[in-house]
Amino acid sequence: MHALVEPVVAWFDEHARDLPWRAPGRTAWGVLVSEVMLQQTPVARVEPVWRAWMQRWPTAADLAAAGPDDVLRAWGRLGYPRRALRLQECARTVVEHHGGELPADEAALLALPGIGTYTAAAVTAFARGRRSVVVDTNVRRVLARALEGRALPDPHLSAAELRRAGDVVPDDDATAARWNAAVMELGALVCTARAPRCGACPVATTCRWRLAGMPA
Ligand code: SF4
Repeated sequence: MHALVEPVVAWFDEHARDLPWRAPGRTAWGVLVSEVMLQQTPVARVEPVWRAWMQRWPTAADLAAAGPDDVLRAWGRLGYPRRALRLQECARTVVEHHGGELPADEAALLALPGIGTYTAAAVTAFARGRRSVVVDTNVRRVLARALEGRALPDPHLSAAELRRAGDVVPDDDATAARWNAAVMELGALVCTARAPRCGACPVATTCRWRLAGMPA
C-alpha cells in the first residue's frame, strides 16, 4: 500500500466532518445529489439546501416528477442553476432506464446526463464503497505537494496525473473508498490552497513540498 494511505486514513477517522451525505442512512441518490451541489458551491451553503431537497425529493423518481420551476426555486442560491435542471434530467433517465435506482457500475453512471468522470468516481467510492479514482482540486493539490514537491498541480488534469493518482489508490474496495474521502478531506481542511496547516498534517514528515521549503 502507498505510504500516504495509512496516515491520511487514520487522520480522517479522527477528523472527518459529520456531513449528512456521509451518515449511515444515506442513499446512493443522496450522495449523487450532494456531489452535484458541491461541484461549485462550498459545503456550508450546500448542507441546508441538500437537507431540504432530500426531504422533499428523496428519490430520483420524486425529482423526476417535480415541476422544473420548483426545482429551480429549491436550488435557490447554490448558483449555476443549470446543474439543477441537469440533475432532474439525470433523475428522469434513472427512472426510465434503470428502474429508479442509480446503476452500481461506474461506466453506467458516467453515461447519465450531467455526470462526469469526477462524479461517477465519487459516487462509486462514497455511495457504493467500491474502488475508484476520485480526483478533484483538493486531491490534486495534496498529491502535487506531498508526492511531487510542487505548490500546485498543472491547470488541467492530464492522463499521466490521473494515472499517478490511481497508483496511490489501494486495491481493496473498502480502503480505496476510505482513501478517496480522506485525501479529499485533507485538501479541504488542512492542505488548503492558500494557507496549508502543515502542523496539523498527518504526512508533514514526508511531504516533498514542505521538505523542499515550500517553493512557489
Ligand atoms: S505537509 Fe503541508 S503542504 Fe504537505 S500535504 Fe501536509 S498540509 Fe499539504
